[in-house]
Amino acid sequence: MRNFLLSLVILSITSITTYAYTISGSKWADTNISFSYVPDGTPWEGGLSTLFASLDAVAATPVWQREFTLALQTWANVSTLNFYQVSDDGSPSHTLGLAQGDPRFGDIRLGVAPLGSSVLGSTWYPNGIALGGNITLNSNGTFAIGSFPDLFMVLRHEVGHALGLRHSSVDGSVMRTAWVDSLHDDDIAGIQFLYGIPIPEPPTLALLLFGFVCLRGKRL
Ligand SMILES: [Zn+2]
Repeated sequence: MRNFLLSLVILSITSITTYAYTISGSKWADTNISFSYVPDGTPWEGGLSTLFASLDAVAATPVWQREFTLALQTWANVSTLNFYQVSDDGSPSHTLGLAQGDPRFGDIRLGVAPLGSSVLGSTWYPNGIALGGNITLNSNGTFAIGSFPDLFMVLRHEVGHALGLRHSSVDGSVMRTAWVDSLHDDDIAGIQFLYGIPIPEPPTLALLLFGFVCLRGKRL
């Protein structure tokens, strides 16, 4: 019993010193998560979304949309998550509906609206209703691609919230600092706690051997 208690203490100390991610307490039930781009003029968080007008001023539509898909993919690469795009009918941000799989819009919706002067973005945690996962960039903010404030880095941080991560206290983590090159171990531990580790691909060598055996089998 004493040994058990000791190991518990050691375990908890280890986890405290290694990771500091925090979770919102909710997550997506289905790891296949859809996303959509909110049409301009959609009633959105107290304003009207200007997603396309605002970000088309930063870069061509396919370019800034690629930054968003890269932000999503960053989290998918280290977890079991998978993202796919759907259309968005412009329903207001607080519309009642399904938490996931609503036919009118994505599970995660990206819009732009006026927010307070101190934030670049604001995101709802997955919360069991259609509102969960909605990401809003500040129409009063400025964004750039490849320089500060980098759109990809902002979106990567906001997507972390949309997936159920709160802020971390670990320096260098995306969920604290945002302005870092890649996910920190702390970010990875957080997303894997929620959604598990990626399913490993069969090794290429095993596939080649399988193909060889199949070919031989056919000839014989
Ligand atoms: Zn944040």
